[in-house]
Amino acid sequence: MKILVAEDDPVYRKMLETMLVKWGYEVIICSDGSHAWEILTSGDAPKFVILDWMMPGMDGMEVCRKIRENIKDVYVYILLLTAKNEMKDIIEGMEAGADDYITKPFHANELKVRLRAGRRILELQEELISSREALRIMATRDALTGLLNRRAIIDALSRRIAQSNREKTSVGVVLSDIDYFKNINDTFGHLIGDAALRETAKRLLSLARQYDDLGRYGGEEFLIVLPGCNLEDTVTYAERLRVCIEKNVVKTSEVTIPVTMSMGVTASVDGKATDVESIIHTADNALYRAKNNGRNRVEFAIYEKS
Ligand code: GH3
Ligand code: MG
Ligand code: MG
Ligand code: MG
Repeated sequence: MKILVAEDDPVYRKMLETMLVKWGYEVIICSDGSHAWEILTSGDAPKFVILDWMMPGMDGMEVCRKIRENIKDVYVYILLLTAKNEMKDIIEGMEAGADDYITKPFHANELKVRLRAGRRILELQEELISSREALRIMATRDALTGLLNRRAIIDALSRRIAQSNREKTSVGVVLSDIDYFKNINDTFGHLIGDAALRETAKRLLSLARQYDDLGRYGGEEFLIVLPGCNLEDTVTYAERLRVCIEKNVVKTSEVTIPVTMSMGVTASVDGKATDVESIIHTADNALYRAKNNGRNRVEFAIYEKS
């Protein structure tokens, strides 16, 4: 673990460096607060800081306050090093945002255990962040395909619509449904059906632009949101998707499955759409026509404000 030490006294500086290196820490050392602040705001900054209280220029307390006021995206653990041992100074230091303090002169073992306590807090913090991130992914992703799930794609569409309303821009919407998917399940079994779904999702994703949103809207239905696309752009795009799906049969180790999709397209032009329901409903009407007109085709419907 990387630790930043800011200490103006050269004897303490050397002593801290020697101890920390011996205990296996990667040490970055400096002799004043401004330099410490510079290091903390540069890339890949340490998350553990030992700050001397009394330093010329910016002192430890000030660095402490600056850290708490400005660094919000990661947690920095602060151990304040002080010659003061009056209770009021210690309280002042902790109120400025320090996590712990140690008074000089200190015993090596005391420093060692306090470092361990700090490290434990940072490790717990990191675990918390990664499990929160895992939960966020679980809550927004579809487990089978890895695409956005129904709720997340509707949220994404809703955000895009709000944005297009503000900026008077267009948003294209494609509602896409695999043809005769029930037959695929019936013929090859549900597991192969799942594989076909995953593969189809992968192909749709491979043609998406970076800022398109793509989600599994239902069982074998996908919703694609194309910011900045008018109706014509969206129809062209959907046609490309349709051809790509049709041309590439899905192969598993056992079988080859031809997959086709029908697509319903609409677009909110110049920020016309105000709600998710009406625009999805319009795309759904177009999809219904694509099914009725023979499947494996793209149909569009002009969005009219209801
Ligand atoms: P159409 O061309 O009219 O869309 O016909 P279809 O057979 O695709 O449509 P239908 O709505 O009758 O059937 C959809 C099928 O998709 C039924 C359902 O069992 C299947 N399905 C939904 N979710 C999953 C899934 O996660 N895995 C698998 N294997 N099948 C699924
Ligand atoms: Mg000092
Ligand atoms: Mg279907
Ligand atoms: Mg369907």
